[in-house]
Parts: sequence; structure tokens; C-alpha cells
Amino acid sequence: MRVLISGASIAGPVLAYWLTRHGFDVTVVERAPQLRKTGGHAVDLFRPAMEISEKMGVLPRIEALVTGTDTGTICREGTRRPVRIDITKAVGAVSDRHVEIMRDDLSEAYYDAGRDDVEYIFGDSITAISPEAEVTFEHAPPRGFDVVVGADGLHSNVRRLVFGEDAGHTQFLGGYLAVESVPKTLARDGEMNSHIGAGRLAAIYTARPLEDARALFMFRSKEELEYHYRDVVRQMELLREAFAGMHETVDGWLDELGRAPTFYFDSITQLQLDTWSRGRVTLVGDAGYCPGPAVGGSTSIAVLGAYILAGELAQANGDYTRAFAAYEREMSEPVRRSRAMARGIAKGLIPNSRAGVWALTRGAQLISMLPASLTKAAAKLNTKGVRLYDSMHYREYSTPVAG
Ligand SMILES: Cc1cc2nc3c(=O)[nH]c(=O)nc-3n(C[C@H](O)[C@H](O)[C@H](O)COP(=O)(O)OP(=O)(O)OC[C@H]3O[C@@H](n4cnc5c(N)ncnc54)[C@H](O)[C@@H]3O)c2cc1C
Repeated sequence: MRVLISGASIAGPVLAYWLTRHGFDVTVVERAPQLRKTGGHAVDLFRPAMEISEKMGVLPRIEALVTGTDTGTICREGTRRPVRIDITKAVGAVSDRHVEIMRDDLSEAYYDAGRDDVEYIFGDSITAISPEAEVTFEHAPPRGFDVVVGADGLHSNVRRLVFGEDAGHTQFLGGYLAVESVPKTLARDGEMNSHIGAGRLAAIYTARPLEDARALFMFRSKEELEYHYRDVVRQMELLREAFAGMHETVDGWLDELGRAPTFYFDSITQLQLDTWSRGRVTLVGDAGYCPGPAVGGSTSIAVLGAYILAGELAQANGDYTRAFAAYEREMSEPVRRSRAMARGIAKGLIPNSRAGVWALTRGAQLISMLPASLTKAAAKLNTKGVRLYDSMHYREYSTPVAG
């Protein structure tokens, strides 16, 4: 059975790996000219994704590449003295099994795990998919497949081709996210330094494997802002406006905007498709069920979704109708819970009042001061909120054949 996957970031390579282990023929088409190794950001990998990575044999590599951001400072807007926080303890309260890694490093680890058995086509994109899964590309000649999977992110090309331009399935969560590459000298290895004010948060971090540092900005907005997603100049202007007068250090990061080699700007938007399969086509990861970038553990959901989809296609012996239905059934609860968590985090992460900012800073400080055993014990009482990944159960599939 021939499967075409669009997108080679996280969900794409994980799905490709497992499909080949189950004996499928897999082609991956990626728009970028090569595996993207710039402009990534740190992502969290929680328990289910860690276990799946372990089954793939890539866990030692992932653990060797963790960012190691263990401590940090928070400076409240209008105050001069930052408070120190212990990020390890805060994260320990969220999960017993978690790592933070740069998305590009993670993507490369998954790609390397399966690359020998997968056909990768870089620098190309699907232009049309017929109901029989005859596919045309921008550059490559047309080809027929049995199944096509969109693993091409929040702004998925496959979703647009199959479900339409915007079928009203996105919910704006009231905020924006930007990431800018800045000189490494502006940050310290192993530290995340942040400034927080009502409705806005700016932070900087770097990590051992990085040659630069990343300035990260999140801000609230009641309304969706007017800009084109390719208009970087306008996006930078909006960012400068949102962070005007916050702190001289933040001004320094914003001054780098004109020189930044990579820049990312997007709304924190949740995808809410009721179904993510149509005919021979289905979606995986952010393309199908992004709970919201940076707020819902979407990398872990992408890895889990890829593993489940491959397993269900194998269980159904390639009967895609049965497999897609089972895949959606298995994923519905994790997706529902990650959406709920993302909505909660989007609300709480950037408080919109000075009192909220004070409470958040004080809370982070308190967690840093308490013994780790106590913060973990308290957090374990809550398996619906941020600990949801540790409490998530998923279906395991019998050991597949070698690829
Ligand atoms: C700034 C930021 C911070 C984040 N922080 C976190 C975090 O802390 N924790 C967390 O869990 N998650 C985080 N995320 C989310 C995380 O990056 C994604 O959830 C994860 O990468 C999903 O993987 P994916 O493979 O589904 O999609 P993506 O990583 O978006 O990959 C999509 C791939 O498809 C390719 N593509 C796009 N269009 C086409 C096309 N037409 N044809 C072929 N290929 C195409 C792209 O080039 C890309 O390689 C963050 C995201 C952002 C943007």
C-alpha cells in the first residue's frame, strides 16, 4: 500500500517511520528545500511521546540534545528586581517524564530513524488530490497513491485542498506568539529570562546546541489583528507596538528585529475540526488538531497521533475507511483534553491585570522554594490540567515487522 505524507517536521517523519515498520511504502513531500534546521523553537515532549520515541530507538539522542533550561528570572513590569525561579521544579510539577528540545533537533532525530526506508522529496508541494488519490505536484510528475496524509502543520496545504480554504474550524485563543533569532551573547545557557506585564510576556533563552538565542514574545489581543501571514514587516511593526515601553532589555531584543535571520509570528489559534478524514485523505498533528502553538503540548499530540494512525492502518490491513474511523476514535479523547488544557493555559499564561501578573510571579517563586516532592505531590491531584499528558492512556500496537 502506497502512502503519501505531506510535511517532514514532527508528525510526518514519525508516521513515516511507523508505517514502514508495518510494511507500507511511504513517500514524504516537504515544501522546504531540505530538513528545516533554522528558526525552530523549544518544544516539550511529554510521557506518551517519550515512550513512543523510546520504541523508535531515538530517546538517547533526544536526551542528549535537551535544551537544559533549568533556571530563570521573571521581572514584573514596573519593578527593577527580577525574582529567580527554578524551572526544573515547575516542570517537575507538570510531568514526571518530560524533556524540552529544539523542534529542529527533534525533527532530525525522527527523520534519521526512518530515512533509509522512506522516499523523501524536498522542495515540492502537492497541488491537487483526486478522490482516487491521484496526486499532482508543483514539480514532480503526477503519481497515484492509496492514502494521502496531511502532516503539514497549522496552515496545512492538504487540509486546504480537501476541506476548503477556511471551513470555519479555527478558534482564536486571544493571543499572539512571536519568536525571533537574536545573538547568543544576549542570553545565558540554561537560563530563561522573562519580563511580564499585564497582557504581555517577553523572554529570552539559549541552549547548548544553539548558535543563537531566541527571544519569545506572547501578547493578548481581544480582536484578531489585521495583517497578511506573509507580511513580515507588518508583523514586526505589530510586535514593536505591543511591547513598546516594557523594559530597556526588551527594547534591545526588539532592536534586533531588522537583523534577525529568522522570525516567526502567528496567532494562538486552535483548530476544531469535528473530523479530520475525508475519503482517502486524513490529517495528523497540527494539521488536524493543533490545540494552539505553545499552549497545549501539541508536539506530544502530533507524535501520539502519528503512532496511532500507523497502528490503525496496520490493524485494518490498509482498509483506510476502517482505519481512519478507529484513528479518530482513539485520538478523540487526547485531542479533546489537549484543547481544553490549551484554552486554560492561553488564559492563564499571560494575565491581563497587574494583580494577575503579581500572582503568577509569586506562584512561580513559591514553587521554586518548595521541595520538589511537595510540588509534585500537589500537582498529582490534578490530572485534568497540566498533568494530563502523564495521565494519558493510549492504545499500543503489536511489534511491527522490520522496515
Ligand atoms: C513558536 C512556537 C512555539 C512552540 N512551542 C511549543 C512547546 O513549547 N511545546 C509543544 O509541545 N509544542 C510547541 N509548539 C508547537 C510545535 O512546534 C508543533 O505542535 C509541532 O511541531 C507539530 O508538528 P507537525 O509535524 O504537526 O507540524 P509542523 O511542525 O508545523 O510541521 C509542518 C511541516 O509541513 C511542512 N509544510 C508546510 N506546508 C507544506 C506544503 N505545502 N507541502 C509540503 N510540506 C509543507 C513545513 O515546512 C513543516 O516542515 C510551538 C510552535 C511554535 C510555532
